[in-house]
Amino acid sequence: MDEFKNKMMKKIKQLTIKSLMLCISLFVAEHASAQIQRISSDFGEMAVQNPEEPCIPPSVYKELKEQIATNVSRLAAEGNLINSVGMLVPPQLFDWPLTHETNFLGNDYFFIQNYIDHAPAAGVILDYMCGTRSYDLPNYDHQGTDICIGPYWWKMMNDMKVRVIAAAPGQIVTNNDGNPDTNCVMGPSNANSITIQHADGTRAFYFHMKEGSVTSKVVGDYVTTGEYLGYVASSGSSTAPHLHFEVQDSSGNVIDPWVGNCNPDIVSSRWISQKPYPNSGIMSILTMNGFASGANCYGIETVPLSNHFAQGASFRIEIHLRDLVPGTVQTTRIYSPTNVLLDTATDTVVNFRAATFYSHTYNLANNAAIGTYRIQVDYQGKKASHYFTVGCPPAYNLSGAVTGMKGYITGENITTTQTIAASSSNNIWYEADDYIQANVGFRATAGCKFRARIDNCAQNSSLAKIETTTEKNFTLKANPSITTDHTKLSLETVENGPVSITIYDLTGRKVQTVLTEANLSEGTHEFELSTVEYPSGIYLCTAQSGISKSQCKIVVQK
Ligand SMILES: [Zn+2]
Repeated sequence: MDEFKNKMMKKIKQLTIKSLMLCISLFVAEHASAQIQRISSDFGEMAVQNPEEPCIPPSVYKELKEQIATNVSRLAAEGNLINSVGMLVPPQLFDWPLTHETNFLGNDYFFIQNYIDHAPAAGVILDYMCGTRSYDLPNYDHQGTDICIGPYWWKMMNDMKVRVIAAAPGQIVTNNDGNPDTNCVMGPSNANSITIQHADGTRAFYFHMKEGSVTSKVVGDYVTTGEYLGYVASSGSSTAPHLHFEVQDSSGNVIDPWVGNCNPDIVSSRWISQKPYPNSGIMSILTMNGFASGANCYGIETVPLSNHFAQGASFRIEIHLRDLVPGTVQTTRIYSPTNVLLDTATDTVVNFRAATFYSHTYNLANNAAIGTYRIQVDYQGKKASHYFTVGCPPAYNLSGAVTGMKGYITGENITTTQTIAASSSNNIWYEADDYIQANVGFRATAGCKFRARIDNCAQNSSLAKIETTTEKNFTLKANPSITTDHTKLSLETVENGPVSITIYDLTGRKVQTVLTEANLSEGTHEFELSTVEYPSGIYLCTAQSGISKSQCKIVVQK
């Protein structure tokens, strides 16, 4: 990107504080039955380059403005331009312009490298909070918000983990794709980008997206908030994958959407929910077999991730943080399968960084307990957990109420009737190789955090795709299954419990809700369903209770 050195995450220093480590080792030996031993610690940082060119170079800006002028006039002439003339339209507010895919398993996925520079003088930087988190050049002040992805951004970009989505509803007025997306230098190259014009006349620019990923919608098409626009990448004037998000008024003047003492553009935030400054947090906790390979630009990092270790093995933990505030402390704790605290490591932040990782390497004892271990990281009031196994434990059979942060990872299967109450502090993780079976009685209530995943416990396995296996404790049928205007749904349940029934079309869009969390007794229940309003097509009727599901098909022929 504009702003980054391409050799991200370069390990700059290896701390080998031998005497300190020895003391800690002795401490561990005495107090944690020597199950694990911390043998070294280090840290890495995102090396930031002084930008040599603007994020959107003048030649690209000029071309973009010409495209906008041409497209806006054409749409206006056709009577198709988003139009609020004569209407009192409040200032457009924005949602967050990024989201991660469901198979991103970290805690958070972004950090902000640069805001808008409000100081016109060259060499003077003033972000909206009067800080210096921006950049300028002799004839350029950075005009957008640069949101980077991490950790290991080239890998994340290659894996397409982070989508660019519309921050506000509006009309596409430029759509550019087909430009290389692995740039490591700044300069006058074109980015893959989208410009959206909003009802209040403002426009949002989304820059640097992945080649071939830009929405298939065309100039003139409307998008809604949250709608897919593309994937984060490094096209255009960019040295690493990031989104440059920029807002302008109808005359082309930049509006900084972040409200703060040094932003003269606005009096109230243009974000629906403005994120804090700094926005300290935990991005990812990783367990690994060794060091990640450095990324030469352009190069996808090789990260030897593993969540499974043998007794006697060594492993490395990386704690990736964002917005590190000098003097603050991050704490990493490791808990045994029986929830005994085995080690506490702390790191004190010395210099501000937008993103950094701390790392600790451990040896596991030859007799380390077999089971699922938990790593808990605390930083600036935020907590996150990560789980790993030693000796790949066998199947789990779980029951009863479970609270707090708890993980279960097995090489075979998990059978469960656990209940997880509706609290965001209840954060439960299931992972099994073969299947996860939720029997009658299992209940994860909205408000808790629950994830289930099928993976391979064998060491060095690649991460499997997310799926869940469920056992049906009820059966849903439609009779007739081919109809013009009417069918009957019959639901057979083997035990009492709450059930929802929903009708979807084949695109996954909800067509009708038949039942919402209704408590049904054991037996057969019938529901009349009118399909008079349904267009011809195939529909899926779905009964759901917790993660158990039964599906039937209805064909409507008119
Ligand atoms: Zn930028």
